[in-house]
Amino acid sequence: MNKKEMDTRLIHGRPHHNSHYGSLVPPIYQTSTFSFTSAEEGERRFAGEADGFVYSRLGNPTVQELEHKIADLENGEKGIAFSSGMAAVSSILTSVVKTGDHILVSEGVYGCTFGLLQMLKDRYQVDFDLVNMDKKETIEAYLRPHTIAIYVETPINPTMKLVDLQMISSIAKKHNLFYIVDNTFSSPILQRPLEHGAHVVLHSATKYIGGHGDVIAGLAAGSSDFISLVRRSSQKDIGGILGPFEAWLLLRGLKTLSLRMNRHSDNAESLSIRLKHHPKIEKIYYPGDPDFPQHPLAAMQMDHFGGLISFELKGDKSTAQAFMNKLSMIRIAVSLGDAETLIQHPASMTHAVVPAETREKMGISDRLLRLSVGLESEKDIWQDIEQALLKI
Ligand SMILES: *Cc1c(COP(=O)(O)O)cnc(C)c1O
Repeated sequence: MNKKEMDTRLIHGRPHHNSHYGSLVPPIYQTSTFSFTSAEEGERRFAGEADGFVYSRLGNPTVQELEHKIADLENGEKGIAFSSGMAAVSSILTSVVKTGDHILVSEGVYGCTFGLLQMLKDRYQVDFDLVNMDKKETIEAYLRPHTIAIYVETPINPTMKLVDLQMISSIAKKHNLFYIVDNTFSSPILQRPLEHGAHVVLHSATKYIGGHGDVIAGLAAGSSDFISLVRRSSQKDIGGILGPFEAWLLLRGLKTLSLRMNRHSDNAESLSIRLKHHPKIEKIYYPGDPDFPQHPLAAMQMDHFGGLISFELKGDKSTAQAFMNKLSMIRIAVSLGDAETLIQHPASMTHAVVPAETREKMGISDRLLRLSVGLESEKDIWQDIEQALLKI
């Protein structure tokens, strides 16, 4: 059977095996457990010899619908849902590593991912290195006999730095490393890492996949063997599972994912041009900007450039804060990927825990701001930014 286009698959997914009275939308199976027709049938389900659900930590029909969907969209064999993006990161990492192992991690990963790696190092002796992933030789110089995995985020927050997914795949293959990609910033609409050789792709579905700022969730997709391993080990026994209602909200959000990603990207592209030419702006960071150093790589591995722009104001921290306080429609908040345009100040918010000199080295100055461009009219977003710029 040939696969339908992405825009269609977002909406239709698999044909329903069970007609649910013909309901257009899958119902929310708000149940903790499932009864068996007989003791023998219960025995067969536990033995894995009969199809059917047992207990919602092990599987739930609404959640399963979502898991099939993410597998389909990322071109994986199987999908899996979690209670948060961090539950996805921690369940996957703990399924891969054991004491004594070593992981290569792209510089600037999400703060709590860094926190988890630090905990694994301090308490379970799983070591890691944060690596600048621009060049193959630099990456290979960090390899150790017990290096087991390579963990990548691209583009990275807030400098939008990219990692070449295909290049990492060749390193992973050559050295037999397990290759993990956090695809939160792009969603499967803009970038599909499994097609570039990753073994598993994960998301904070809290962001673009949910898209409406009303749910915390995580998703992942990959080979059938690996996803089954995560389900059997970390997910079943640690238990960071998604509830049926949250799964239903994500299924609802996914239907418009392509429309939203393209609108986020179009809005951001126009705003990036306006910001770039404004006299009070020092510098912008946007993969869609033709002058962005990695623009050619972005054009190669992403289908569109996404909704996140960072920019530096001329001035200092107080200028940046004054600017934020003058905004009227744009909301001051962390998180991203919502319908509303959000702005945050990385140095004092998402990256406040990073020591100042490390921040400076990463390119995160006190006058850097990160904008998650929403779905409003681009004209109104710009009007808000322009009037605030005028007042500083
Ligand atoms: C938000 C985020 C996470 C963590 O996801 P939660 O849903 O907040 O647990 C992980 N990675 C990236 C890139 C994120 O932006």
